[in-house]
Amino acid sequence: MILGGLQKTTLVDFPGRIACTVFTVGCNFRCPFCHNKDLVGGDKNRLEIIKEEDFFEFLKKRKKVLEGVCITGGEPTLQKDLFAFCRKIKSMGLDLKLDTNGSNPEIVKKLIENKMVDYVAIDFKTEWNSYPDLAGVEVEVEKVQETMKYVMRSVPAYCIRTTHVPTMHSDAVLKKMAVWLLNASKDNSDLVWILQKFRPINCLDVEYEKIEAWSDEEMKNMTRELRKKFAFVRLG
Ligand code: SF4
Repeated sequence: MILGGLQKTTLVDFPGRIACTVFTVGCNFRCPFCHNKDLVGGDKNRLEIIKEEDFFEFLKKRKKVLEGVCITGGEPTLQKDLFAFCRKIKSMGLDLKLDTNGSNPEIVKKLIENKMVDYVAIDFKTEWNSYPDLAGVEVEVEKVQETMKYVMRSVPAYCIRTTHVPTMHSDAVLKKMAVWLLNASKDNSDLVWILQKFRPINCLDVEYEKIEAWSDEEMKNMTRELRKKFAFVRLG
């Protein structure tokens, strides 16, 4: 595992748990709005690389306080030791949350089948035809769809997340995404789609820093409108 950051305590990242968040280095996407430039680019000179043994030492010390670990990135499923890493965390009696862009369904399935993860958060960048625009690379969208469908049907707790970029997510695009989720989830009452506010700061593509972010009020109104038809929408 290449670990490039650690948030020692979080009360908000893992619903219902006091957790820590560990960041993995490297990503196969280049989302223009991404704020994790250093992790995505994997520039080890600019990152505080954490040794795995030091991370587990930290967990041992904090075991009485922590209830869970969030693994985020970059894209965690690119790490070849991810399964063993998760197993070690679980063996310490901690719950595990995985953040993923959904591009590696095989790895996510293996983790779920072996009960290695308790919560999965998957990115849903935009409607499928425009996916490369917001992932910054060509994407095998069928793989992302496969991960999402599998997670929606198999994981005890999950959420789908979208960073709402005002210039990219028109009402029509959001409705298309909502309809796809509704159909894919087969009316799963646990479906939760979280819309997060775009922040034009420190973006991977500096052009995105020129985009005006929506106000909290605008986000609230947009979510309220969507919820009239799609009750599973939440404001992140
Ligand atoms: S926002 Fe995109 S580029 Fe950034 S870590 Fe997530 S998937 Fe990778």
